[in-house]
Amino acid sequence: MHSIHTLDIEFEQGGQRQVITPTLLQDGQDTILVDCGYPNFEAYLEAAVNRVNLALSSITKLIVTHHDIDHMGSLAALKRMYPRIEIIAHELEKPYIVGTAKSLRLEQAESGLEAMPEEAKPFAEQFIAFLRTMEPAAVDRTVYSGEKLPWCGGIEIVHTPGHMTGHISLYVPSSKTLIAADAVVLEQSKLDIANPQYTLDMEAALNSVRNLLAFDIDRLICYHGGVLEGDVRGALRKLLEHYSQ
Ligand SMILES: [Zn+2]
Repeated sequence: MHSIHTLDIEFEQGGQRQVITPTLLQDGQDTILVDCGYPNFEAYLEAAVNRVNLALSSITKLIVTHHDIDHMGSLAALKRMYPRIEIIAHELEKPYIVGTAKSLRLEQAESGLEAMPEEAKPFAEQFIAFLRTMEPAAVDRTVYSGEKLPWCGGIEIVHTPGHMTGHISLYVPSSKTLIAADAVVLEQSKLDIANPQYTLDMEAALNSVRNLLAFDIDRLICYHGGVLEGDVRGALRKLLEHYSQ
């Protein structure tokens, strides 16, 4: 028996209501969390996991799809609370997650600051200061594209670079579910590229979406926007058409 739960977490940021959707996969042996929210999100995560009748302490593995602050902000804290959690990420993301390489997002934000109009600078500086609070964490295991992990009925690693170099999505063939992370976002039931202005390589991002068409997907889980069911491939094609115009 294995199951997949979406963990919608609602919160306020800068006076705005936001939702992120980490995913929880579970079988008789493992409870696997995919991404873990902003810094200090442990209580939100605990509440979300409790809603599906589980506890944060039961998590055995944590897959980090990429090193953005909304996906790995609470990673170091969770590892401190539960040292036995095995942290898993793509080999290309590892240096950024463990902190041996400077965050690409921070580099992008800092390099954009100079050219920015004066009035936009305070917000950008605040964002940079926020990114600098991100705590690095150990990665216990790296994965590569096409790797098939045996847990929860089988999970395939799909490298979806663009938003970030070592960004991964996860395909669960037993339920035809794709956990997209930030390969795509769902906005008003329409798929789009996650924050095009923050996407490090737009060409690669679109190519990653193109590669997703090879998968038989009934259910797509976006970290931003939640679940899309039904004609997922049609929706992915629509996104590609939009950007080819
Ligand atoms: Zn994100």
